[in-house]
Amino acid sequence: MPLPKLLPLSKTIHLPIANIDVKIYAFTVKEEKTILISRDFGDLSLEENLIELIKTKTEGVNVDDLCMSDMIILLVEILSISKTSTQDLSYRCTNEVEGKPCNTKIDLKLDIANYDVNGESENHKMIQLDENTSIELVYPKYKVIAPIRKKDTPTEEDISNVYIDCIYAIYSGEDMITDFTKEEITEWFNDLPGEYLHHFVEFVQNMPTVTLSYDVVCPKCGNTRHFEAVNLLDFFTPATAE
Ligand SMILES: [Zn+2]
Repeated sequence: MPLPKLLPLSKTIHLPIANIDVKIYAFTVKEEKTILISRDFGDLSLEENLIELIKTKTEGVNVDDLCMSDMIILLVEILSISKTSTQDLSYRCTNEVEGKPCNTKIDLKLDIANYDVNGESENHKMIQLDENTSIELVYPKYKVIAPIRKKDTPTEEDISNVYIDCIYAIYSGEDMITDFTKEEITEWFNDLPGEYLHHFVEFVQNMPTVTLSYDVVCPKCGNTRHFEAVNLLDFFTPATAE
């Protein structure tokens, strides 16, 4: 007799920055095991594997088009319906009491679904450049910004690429132009009068963020340490500093 097939849990969630509803599915046992092993063994391709997995669990959007905040929310919500958003973390208190490390072990249950979304979204912001020309800006894609965030000193070209990725459309008089090539838009951006650059800088700086802040309080000496998850991987592997 064939064994019964169980359907995975699914849920429709709203991605606040892209402002769309998407359907997500829980991980299977095998997927969950694979990704947790990848995490626990410090696999260098963890982030790529995680994103590939997120893609197979999401319907209704091209995941490659999402910005950092929506990506984090997508990951946390998939972990949440897979019942793996709560993690048991263990810390060792490093505070010195009377010249000796306190060394108390602190166990903590952290639910990463308790994240905060900070800042107002201005996705698809219109900016008038001169009386005939305006631009429509969208937040940079995660896949563009993530590799740059990892660098200690991003190059000028890296930063320009982030701004160029924000250009959704250029309006010239009555025309809306979106069919530009990467080369065309790069040249257009590089030739812009310098006075317009601040629009891009401010737009990216004020991008809404998703964060998870938590305190680890030592029950013995009362020492408090503050942790903050801001990047995608921070949410999957919260700091477990000894
Ligand atoms: Zn302590």
